[in-house]
Amino acid sequence: MKALVKSAPGRGLTLTDVPLPTIGDLDVLIKVDRTGICGTDLHIYNWDAWAEKTIPTPLVIGHEFVGSIAEIGSAVEFLKLGDIVSGEGHLICGVCRNCLAGRRHLCKDTAGVGVTSPGAFAEFVALPATNVWKHAEGISLDVASIFDPFGNATHTALAFPLLGEDVLITGAGPIGCMAAAISKHAGARHVVVTDLNPQRLELAKTLGATRVVDVSDEKIPDIQRELGMTEGFDVGLEMSGNKHAFNDLIANMAHGGKIALLGIPEPGVAIDWNAVVFNSLTIQGIYGRKMYETWYQMTSMLQSGLDISAVITHHFDFPDFEKGFAAMNEGSCGKVILNWNL
Ligand code: NAD
Ligand code: ZN
Repeated sequence: MKALVKSAPGRGLTLTDVPLPTIGDLDVLIKVDRTGICGTDLHIYNWDAWAEKTIPTPLVIGHEFVGSIAEIGSAVEFLKLGDIVSGEGHLICGVCRNCLAGRRHLCKDTAGVGVTSPGAFAEFVALPATNVWKHAEGISLDVASIFDPFGNATHTALAFPLLGEDVLITGAGPIGCMAAAISKHAGARHVVVTDLNPQRLELAKTLGATRVVDVSDEKIPDIQRELGMTEGFDVGLEMSGNKHAFNDLIANMAHGGKIALLGIPEPGVAIDWNAVVFNSLTIQGIYGRKMYETWYQMTSMLQSGLDISAVITHHFDFPDFEKGFAAMNEGSCGKVILNWNL
C-alpha cells in the first residue's frame, strides 16, 4: 500500500510502498478515506528537536483520519465490515491504576498512533478495536476525519462550565477556532480569541468568536472595557503554546477564574504566580481526549447544531502531500485534509 513515511532522521516525508499492516484477534484493519494534518505531523515533517528525540524511523506517520472497516479480528464483536470509523490516537496500557479505574485518558504509559507506532497517512491502518470510534450517521467524512483535534478542542473547552461565562481563547489555530465554536454552542456570552495572524483571526470569527484580538496592535483590557466587562474572563483556554499568550491569559482572568491549558509551552516558561495565588486561579492541564466521553460529546454537539466545518480550509489528494505541508508551514490555513480514497 502507499504510505507517507519518515524513512530516516531529517526533514521531509517519503511517499512509498509499505506492506499492508497485519492484525491480531483484537484488532481491526481500516481502509483510510481521508486524513487531517496535525501540528504534530508538521513537527515530524520539519524534524525539530522534539521529533528527533521522539520518532523512531522508519515510521508511517499521521493520526487524524476517517475510514471504513476492511478486516476484523476474530475476537472483535461490536464492529462490522464497512463501518465508518475514526481512531483514538492514544494507545493505552490497560493495566495501570488509571486504566483499570476507567480513566483511560490518564494512562501512565500511552503510545501514539503515527508518533511511536504506525500511523494513518496510508491506504490502510491497523488499530486495536478498543481504539475505534464508530461514527453516527450524518457526520460528514471531512468533519469525521478531524475528530482527533476537534476532541482536543472539546476536552479543553468543556473542562469548565461555560453557560453565561466570558471566555478568552489564546491562539486561533485550528484548535482555538474550533474551541470558539464549541464555547458559543455551550452557552458562553463573550468568546474573545487572540492571535497575531489576521487570517486565523478571521477564521475564528467565522467559527463564532464574538470578538477577535490581534495582540500585536490591541490590548485585551481595552477589549474588556469595550465589551462592558468589569471583572475579567471567567474561563481561559490556552491554545497557542506561546508564553506571552499564557501570561496575557493569567493577567486578564477574573478572581476565581478557571484556565484550561492545552497549548504546549516551551520548557522553563515563567508565569506570574502571584496572580495565580492572589486571584485564586485554577489551572487545569489538558492532554488528548477523554476516552470516550469526549467523542460522545463531539457527536452530540454536531447533532444539536454545532458546525465546525469552516475550520477545514484545504483539501489535497495524498500524492500532493507536499502542498499540504507547505500550507501548514505557511500558517495561514485552518485544517488541511489529505484524501486517500483515489
Ligand atoms: P497552531 O500552532 O496551529 O496554533 C497556535 C496559534 O497560536 C497560531 O495561530 C499562532 O499564531 C498563535 N499565537 C502565537 N503567539 C501568540 C500570542 N502571543 N498570542 C496569541 N496567539 C498566539 O496549533 P493548534 O494545532 O491549533 O494547537 C494548539 C496548541 O495545542 C499547540 O500548542 C499544540 O501543540 C497544542 N496541542 C496540545 C495537545 C494536547 O493534548 N495537550 C493536543 C494537540 C495540540
Ligand atoms: Zn494505563
